[in-house]
Amino acid sequence: MTEAAAQATDSDPSTPQARRAAVVAACQRLVRDGLVVGTAGNVSIRRDAAHFFVSPTGTRYDALRPEDVPLVDLRGRWRDGRRPSSEWRIHRDLYRARPEVGAIVHTHSREATALACTGRGIPAFHYMVAAAGGADVRCAPYRPFGTQALSEVALTALADRRACLLANHGVLCVGADIEAALGLAMEIEDLAAKYRIALALGGVEILDAAQMRDVLDRFASYGRQESADPDLVRIAEPPPELPEQPR
Ligand SMILES: [Zn+2]
Repeated sequence: MTEAAAQATDSDPSTPQARRAAVVAACQRLVRDGLVVGTAGNVSIRRDAAHFFVSPTGTRYDALRPEDVPLVDLRGRWRDGRRPSSEWRIHRDLYRARPEVGAIVHTHSREATALACTGRGIPAFHYMVAAAGGADVRCAPYRPFGTQALSEVALTALADRRACLLANHGVLCVGADIEAALGLAMEIEDLAAKYRIALALGGVEILDAAQMRDVLDRFASYGRQESADPDLVRIAEPPPELPEQPR
């Protein structure tokens, strides 16, 4: 392969090497954004219908290299890199059950985890809860880390959703790609913090089912800007000259 061809392959986000690098970049961003402390949490990116790249177990993220990231198949067999995260079952079961999922982010981020330690999910106290795909973010009941039982309660809590809390453990977010999953992880952390503050103030108002259905409908049409707001019209002409300012 020529050097130019090798560079083209490295910059193509669909190559195995680029996906391994994206797993590393996502882990390091979680540390930078304060969602991960130490080696808690894990990240995966789907390779194809039957394989995914997942962060390895017990590796400091600042020292993580793309070649450390293993490839795992849906039968639990892994190759290359280091031993997969102990939560590989959650990743395998989600990629098996949810073909639309392209990336998964699991953290023990402070606010979401603190809320999960009360056994509470996040109700529709704010309309942005709809970012997770429904009228609430559920909290899966406690199961020991790294077990099939944890994977099963997590998948149930994630039904028709892109995020759930894990009681006495952490938070799980999925997305079509790694950017979507990371963005949702940040959003859920922020919502958990706001919900805690609202609970402390007391008298939290919860949006009703019809209000949340309306928000979800608006989110669904959000990408279609023209239809989303007919009162807001884009024009090409330059703005009128400003009048001369008096000195
Ligand atoms: Zn965990």
